[in-house]
Amino acid sequence: LQQRLNEGKRQDEIDQLAVNFNHVLARLEQAFDQQRSFVSHASHELRTPLTALKSEIQLGLLQRLSPEEYEAILQNLLTDTDQLIALSNSLLSLARTLENLPRVQLTTVRLDEIIFSAQDELLSTKPTFRILVDYDTMTDTELLVRGNEDLLRRVVLNLLDNACKYSANHEALVYIGADTATCWFTVQDAGIGITGADVSRVFEPFFRASNALNYDGFGVGLSICQRIVALHQGSITVVSEPGHGSTFTVNFPLVNGQAA
Ligand code: ADP
Repeated sequence: LQQRLNEGKRQDEIDQLAVNFNHVLARLEQAFDQQRSFVSHASHELRTPLTALKSEIQLGLLQRLSPEEYEAILQNLLTDTDQLIALSNSLLSLARTLENLPRVQLTTVRLDEIIFSAQDELLSTKPTFRILVDYDTMTDTELLVRGNEDLLRRVVLNLLDNACKYSANHEALVYIGADTATCWFTVQDAGIGITGADVSRVFEPFFRASNALNYDGFGVGLSICQRIVALHQGSITVVSEPGHGSTFTVNFPLVNGQAA
């Protein structure tokens, strides 16, 4: 009987090992798929402006043009090249962030301080933006989060930048709140909004809604934000009304909360 029990136990262990192995395999496949899709998206994004650049050069070479016309073409080429540099910076930043996330150091940080410092940072580079930050719920608890300050500031900066960029009044309203176990902040704007079908896609890498195409951007920032928030055991969601505005909400568990 003992022998049969031992054999049964061994079989259970082997079954468990097989389950774990399949789990690892599935995660590896998922990682490869993400990598493949990133490379193909990135190549596509780079190809479009490069093709435009090439046809402008060909046009310049084909015709006899006046010095003024050549100057105009060179000016266009400069603008296109600047766009390409911005795009490759964005891609590089996405690739680096994804690569480094698993090794990021987490410490205890104050969420509200990070939000105020992101507000200062953005206003110093874009003084036409208006960013108002306030506490939603008055709380005695310090808003302590287990996190990485630079990455969290990046999430806040991205949301503030989008809110101001996609609204005519270039204004973002931020509310910070907490309850017993979680803290959160919301970023509200009265901008162009996002249609129902697009709302679920804004966190996909390279996705840009059709009403956003006249604004600068590459559709990379929110996908980075979502990864960063997930690394902090948090969540990021959006509700939006086209033509009226959007509200992004980010939640984190409190280090000093009751569930901690
Ligand atoms: P980017 O703004 O550079 O395109 P993001 O990843 O930050 O990239 O955003 C992805 C898309 O989500 C945007 O292209 C836009 O369609 C939509 N979006 C994000 N934030 C807002 C906002 N505050 N208002 C309206 N649309 C938004």
